[in-house]
Amino acid sequence: MITGLKIPGRKGLSIKNKIGIYNKMKYVYIPLISGGDTDITVAVKKGDYVYKGSVIGKRKGNLRIPIHSSVSGTVVDYEEKFVSNGQKVKCVVIENDFLDAIENEYENNDLTKYTKKEFIKTIQECGIVGLGGSGFPTYVKYNTDQKIKTLIVNAVECEPYITADYVLVREKCDEILETIDAIREINDIDEAIIAIKSHNTGLKEVIDNYIGTYLKLKLVLVPNIYPMGWEKSLVKFIKKTDYQRLPIEKGIVVSNVSTIYAIYEALKYKKPLTERIVTFTGENLKRPQNVMVKMGTSASEIIKKVGGIDNKDALYIAGGPMMGKGIPTDDIIINCNDNCILVLDNYSLDIETTCLRCGKCVEKCPAKLSPVLIGESLDKVDRLKKLQPTRCIECGLCSYICPAKINVREKVRKAKEILRKEG
Ligand code: SF4
Ligand code: SF4
Repeated sequence: MITGLKIPGRKGLSIKNKIGIYNKMKYVYIPLISGGDTDITVAVKKGDYVYKGSVIGKRKGNLRIPIHSSVSGTVVDYEEKFVSNGQKVKCVVIENDFLDAIENEYENNDLTKYTKKEFIKTIQECGIVGLGGSGFPTYVKYNTDQKIKTLIVNAVECEPYITADYVLVREKCDEILETIDAIREINDIDEAIIAIKSHNTGLKEVIDNYIGTYLKLKLVLVPNIYPMGWEKSLVKFIKKTDYQRLPIEKGIVVSNVSTIYAIYEALKYKKPLTERIVTFTGENLKRPQNVMVKMGTSASEIIKKVGGIDNKDALYIAGGPMMGKGIPTDDIIINCNDNCILVLDNYSLDIETTCLRCGKCVEKCPAKLSPVLIGESLDKVDRLKKLQPTRCIECGLCSYICPAKINVREKVRKAKEILRKEG
């Protein structure tokens, strides 16, 4: 059985508007971080001229992936800035010359002409990482000797406020389906499935309009419960199977739909990952909207573009209300894994009381954990180890369901951090 909960949506705030574009920033701050890893080799120095798409850093170690400049201009400084995980991270500051100059003209390739080797090389060199929130280098998923039997494209987007994937599929459906089909062909994958929520009839109509020409693609409607977009829930619902660590154990690869579009641009034009769609939304924002944002832009600039805030006592969350993280300022730097900036009224937070021992957090946890016990064991490392908080996917259901308004998820996050430091 799939554990989950029906959560009232607030997608209507941002869904109707077309995707906005913002490229007026005088400076971009390219964070030297990739998938949470800050062990980056810097490839530029102060005074260097960079093109849009120039490599300015490379992640070291096994998961090598480049970081690109999102504008053309001059490297003027290094500065520490907040990113969405709450960390201050060293950034390369580039003064934008507003020319969007590129070193080589974009190519116009046939997606089906790639060999598997060329496919892997291209998405690695273009710096494609998981845009659903993981930031994990995408080439690694496909660079396997194991037979990939099924590709599942995750367009479920189950967080209540976020519509970035929705508007992308609405506006780029044909390109997305073409890419899924090409990935299937190149990697000799038996079947490819695109998954959306069952109540999402508008999106179903859009996909139905195009999918007929792709005979080997299938649309699957999944239940409207949270966290249905979690890989384990998706695999279980669609393929009726479980896995331990990664879906590839069962011959399955799951890719987020925004990642698929980034792969499209990489294969078609050899265009590196330098921008993404971010949902700017929330009851405290004047004009909620999805905006195409260049990596390294401060969220504060986009918030101004969408009309600013209503109430100065604002609460900023990077991500959705369920999995996102409260951030201390709107001056956080947008990077690959940021799909949403949520702006609420600060007083919308509820007051926490003592635990009622109701067990609801345990009952609803999709990872089958005991969040309440984990939260109470932060000073007992041996007990924490037994409770396995590292299996938490940070979905936030325990906090959402808690009648005492305890931020249980935050406690479980702390427990993960404690165990990580213990090694
Ligand atoms: S403990 Fe983690 S996985 Fe379980 S409900 Fe809470 S946030 Fe979700
Ligand atoms: S849901 Fe809240 S009140 Fe109920 S057991 Fe969990 S932490 Fe305690």
